Amino acid sequence: MLPPIARRFVAGESSDAALDHARELNGRDVSVILNLLGEHYDEPDPAEEDAATYRHLVDEIAEADLDACISIKPSQLGLDLGADAFRTLVTDVTEHAADRDVFVWIDMEDYTTTDVTLDVFTDLAREHDGGVGVCVQANLKRTRDDVERLADVPGKVRFVKGAYDEPASVAYTDKGRVNEAYRDLLEYAFAEYDGGIAIGSHDPEMIDLAKELHDEHGTDFEVQMLMGVREDAQYDLAAEGYEVWQYAPYGGKWLSYFWRRVRERKENLFFALRAVLGR
Ligand code: FAD
Repeated sequence: MLPPIARRFVAGESSDAALDHARELNGRDVSVILNLLGEHYDEPDPAEEDAATYRHLVDEIAEADLDACISIKPSQLGLDLGADAFRTLVTDVTEHAADRDVFVWIDMEDYTTTDVTLDVFTDLAREHDGGVGVCVQANLKRTRDDVERLADVPGKVRFVKGAYDEPASVAYTDKGRVNEAYRDLLEYAFAEYDGGIAIGSHDPEMIDLAKELHDEHGTDFEVQMLMGVREDAQYDLAAEGYEVWQYAPYGGKWLSYFWRRVRERKENLFFALRAVLGR
């Protein structure tokens, strides 16, 4: 059972719990991106099982008419088994979701996976005329070129700073330089994209910049934040009329995800404890 301390960051262990969470958030005008926790499978069976779970989840989202979508990790859907295995499984999930009008996000993992992830995304997005989105990471030096190439591709792009420790040969390692790259990417995207921009950040400075760029260019955008992080800001932005999506992970493999949130920011443990103690 999911212990109370992890409940701040994880929507539950079952898809029923995840759907209940989505229903509750929808009641507060926040849409939900559901991610079944799992990654780096080196056998076909767990990758195929997670693909089947996502197909079932998509059915449930559509049946319940929720403002919800899914986000998959490439190595969860077979990338460690090879590019073909990943392409087959993600195509299967995306076609199933497209038939039910449910959006599919593809998370971005470390820099060795960027080419294949963007190739598969581009093909799927063209085939389904949108309906799918991909994440790009500002810490990678290549991302400005990628973002320019993606301008002609339908679908959405989630802009994040980057969660992986990458080598200095391919990535900016200084936080200030990553922030500068992030600002530069947003300035380009709001000027050149037709819409479909997702701000995957909790950073108030970047969210303010997105608002300013929206006012300047009129380009649509949405804000995406993680479950358990700046939730008051999520509700406030939604109340101001901005489109807000909360990324909510769920599933049995919650432990490593929970510790990642705590390692990233020690205060998260304090917040989680406070939630358990009810004050
Ligand atoms: P930071 O640069 O970490 O912090 C900037 C400021 O934001 C802080 O000074 C503070 O004011 C505020 N802030 C940040 N965290 C907190 C907190 N816990 N509590 C209160 N205030 C806080 N990375 C990937 O590599 N691939 C992905 O596919 C991916 N998908 C993501 C999807 C979503 C929806 C989100 C939100 C992030 C995703 N990430 C992904 C992670 C991302 O790359 C960053 O590692 C992570 O979001 C931290 O960067 P930040 O921009 O939120 O803020």
